[in-house]
Amino acid sequence: MRMLVDGDAGSTSDWDDRWNHIKKFLERSGPFMHPDFEPSTESLQFMLETCKILVIGAGGLGCELLKNLALSGFRNIHVVDMDNIDVSNLNRQFLFRAKDVGRPKADVAADFINSRVPGCCVIPYFKKIQDLDETFYRQFHIIVCGLDSIVARRWMNGMLLSLLVYEDGVLDPSSIIPLIDGGTEGFKGNARVILPGMTACIDCTLELYPPQINFPMCTIASMPRLPEHCIEYVRILQWPKEMPFGDDMALDGDDPEHIQWVYQKSLERAAEFSITGVTYRLTQGVVKRIIPAVASTNAAIAAACATEVFKIASSAYLPLNNYMVFNDVDGLYTYTFEAERKENCSACSQVPSDLHFSPSSKLQEVLDYLTESTSLQMKSPAITTTMDGKNKTLYLQSVASIEQRTRPNLTKTLKELGLADGQELAVADVTTPQTVLFKLCFTS
Ligand SMILES: [Zn+2]
Repeated sequence: MRMLVDGDAGSTSDWDDRWNHIKKFLERSGPFMHPDFEPSTESLQFMLETCKILVIGAGGLGCELLKNLALSGFRNIHVVDMDNIDVSNLNRQFLFRAKDVGRPKADVAADFINSRVPGCCVIPYFKKIQDLDETFYRQFHIIVCGLDSIVARRWMNGMLLSLLVYEDGVLDPSSIIPLIDGGTEGFKGNARVILPGMTACIDCTLELYPPQINFPMCTIASMPRLPEHCIEYVRILQWPKEMPFGDDMALDGDDPEHIQWVYQKSLERAAEFSITGVTYRLTQGVVKRIIPAVASTNAAIAAACATEVFKIASSAYLPLNNYMVFNDVDGLYTYTFEAERKENCSACSQVPSDLHFSPSSKLQEVLDYLTESTSLQMKSPAITTTMDGKNKTLYLQSVASIEQRTRPNLTKTLKELGLADGQELAVADVTTPQTVLFKLCFTS
């Protein structure tokens, strides 16, 4: 029998055979093992004692990830989440109970794991990812994301790219923090492994995230086929025309009377076209743009992500290469492919992208390009440049006074603004913690 020592959390909480399930993967060889891996007890020791994991998000994927990682032997886990628990989370975010509604997800999730899994230490941060800095992110061996926002994902991707160290143009591999990214939407999901600076980053594959799909107006207005088309008709056309709750009263997806009105009118519209399937719930879903969260999809994607963390932390197995898609709408389908780096990726390529515009183009056109281009998809870009050795803000949206002062620039041409061919434009946006450099290339 082993002596138990006070304060030695690592050993007091381990009982005989506790990690047998993990040891089977790490302490004997097998056909799927990494070709360079030597089975030993070291990997498990590293996972238990040293390896520091950051989980971003403590929601549907986050709860699954924390549970999977804690039960796989990771004990040094930090979790960041900015949300409070809502009653509608309880069906799948299983670390939360009814009594926890209103409390921060990160705090409750950490408490739950810490009290349930002996020896595991989860440290919570009830914060936005943007409120933590480079020094914070640099301390982790692996970061795993269970986010529902593309902007947050891109920001995290940008943060890890900003931590990379290049010496004479050569990437220092010790500066790479692997990013495991999971995402789900209804019955669809994906899991991917990103080695920042080495493999395709989030922005390299931005075209895979199409902008929000809306139904074409002609379908909504004249040839509806789906119950959703009928609800959209009422939301977009009938509400503003009839103003059922008085002038200027905008449709509020959280007001049951509003939803009830849209629901009744949508039923009438559906009856006209012999369309079935309009329900109160669907009405609310369409009005609030809700895609239902599916617990089983979250479980499958989080399991894939936790497996990748395990493979990379132990280096016992080759990681996923590098993008797995998953779909359980009808039966089950998965497919893995190698997403490729984009040579001129604005986030990870280290070269300023070219912006091709004529000197007579207006600044507004540049702004539109930054937000509408499928490879950039910026949200509220702020454009600055250097002129005569001074920084000059050409346009900035997020501060009202500066917006007002720089708005007239939007209707000026690039030539009128004094911009030259080859001029560098620095663009800041919520999608990245760093400014993105562009080079202006005049077309004639
Ligand atoms: Zn990239």
